[in-house]
Amino acid sequence: MVISPEITDMSMEKNMTPVIQLIKKQIISGQFDNTPDRFQVFTEKQLDNIDALNQLPEQRRFEMKVVAKVLPFRVNRYVLDHLIDWNNIPDDPIFQLVFPQKGMLSENDFEQMANVLRNTTDRDQIQKTINEIRQRLNPHPAEQQSLNVPNDEGRTIQGIQHKYRETVLFFPGQGQVCHSFCSFCFRWAQFIGDKELRFSNKEAEQLHNYLIKYKKISDLLITGGDPMVMKTDHLVSYMEPLLKPEFDHIQTIRIGTKSLSFWPQRYVKDADSNELLALFERLVKAGKHVAIMAHFNHWREMITPIAQEAIRRLRATGVVIRTQSPLLNHINNDPNVWAQMWREQVRLGMVPYYMFVERDTGARHYFEVPLARAWEVYRQAMQQVSGLGRTVRGPSMSTGPGKIEVQGITKIYNEKVFVLRFIQARNPDWVQQPFFAKFDPDATWLDHLKPAFGEEKFFFQDEYDAMRMKKISPRVYE
Ligand SMILES: *Cc1c(COP(=O)(O)O)cnc(C)c1O
Repeated sequence: MVISPEITDMSMEKNMTPVIQLIKKQIISGQFDNTPDRFQVFTEKQLDNIDALNQLPEQRRFEMKVVAKVLPFRVNRYVLDHLIDWNNIPDDPIFQLVFPQKGMLSENDFEQMANVLRNTTDRDQIQKTINEIRQRLNPHPAEQQSLNVPNDEGRTIQGIQHKYRETVLFFPGQGQVCHSFCSFCFRWAQFIGDKELRFSNKEAEQLHNYLIKYKKISDLLITGGDPMVMKTDHLVSYMEPLLKPEFDHIQTIRIGTKSLSFWPQRYVKDADSNELLALFERLVKAGKHVAIMAHFNHWREMITPIAQEAIRRLRATGVVIRTQSPLLNHINNDPNVWAQMWREQVRLGMVPYYMFVERDTGARHYFEVPLARAWEVYRQAMQQVSGLGRTVRGPSMSTGPGKIEVQGITKIYNEKVFVLRFIQARNPDWVQQPFFAKFDPDATWLDHLKPAFGEEKFFFQDEYDAMRMKKISPRVYE
């Protein structure tokens, strides 16, 4: 590879942002070429096979094994070799993003699990302990199973969630895994156990029948796991039929994915990469809006030449890439990291969309930050970017009643309050009505908040309770 003088000119480096400096270093190292990469993955049972971990003390590796028994662990070679800075362990944000850490379990849970592993090899007893601890980690937050799964003429439809009138979530059976797992994942409970990840025609048919029936649905959000682990053939069978006239009301097809971060090869050099890009192009040409909902937690995930090439190819098909991430202690609890990330996303042609609050499940106590801090990080980051980066909403909690954004902290007369609003709600009429909660410096989630000004309940409480009691039907069908 020819190194251009401009790249090696040290006088320029001073003026470059860290992102640009890193990109240039990676280009110099000549890491991007066109030979296909083998997808090699490590799970809990293969922790000892990850050479880079040998530099860690035995005790640390034992701790990782204890946590990996309870929370799902999976990492691929691309992440190990190109995203993690092994000179900065354990603080490296990408290391924290994929590797289990002791603090991800409470002290009691950790000790219980560690003791069992130290004292027995009995598989039943180990499994019993694992299950017990998992049950304590709120595996299914925000009434996902009871309230979001559609009940169509008395029969529940697996693989579909319909919480907001205009958007349906679809979880294709064979997309319920990811190229690597995030240590904070709110869907962690979906990845436990060996499921068969098979394609079934019936599943596609059920989805299409459901979409045909409800004409108020404008958006289909295909999610997982990560739908981009699927072969292009399967993606075609879900998406291509949507070009028929009976699906004209489906204007937008969104795909939630972390593949740009964990396996950008998907769009560059997998065996069926080109067919995939061609599918997107057909959908766009036929008039659908295709949105890649890309999950990036840190700007470091976007600096490899192959990630940037993947973004370039995707955009060339006419899809729009929107980005989202939760705010996470140990990973991105810093306004400068967010500002840098949004600036870089805008430069690469992506649209910052959501900043989420870490959900009340799994390793939440390790990652969560107070809502007051979340708003401060959001505000300070927003102040550093141009208008094109200020498309992002946040910090938002995905709660049972809906997506609630912390819009600010202020004083009204003598009371310090959080200003809140629904971005999405089970009842569309709740959306965009400001409401207020008493300020609480330690609150990290909706259930810690109390209504301000001496009110007894939030305005949506009675109606939401009634929905939960199934006294009134969800408003998605109106
Ligand atoms: C966020 C979310 C959506 C999409 O909401 P938008 O505001 O349209 O992005 C849909 N369904 C569920 C369950 C969600 O959490």
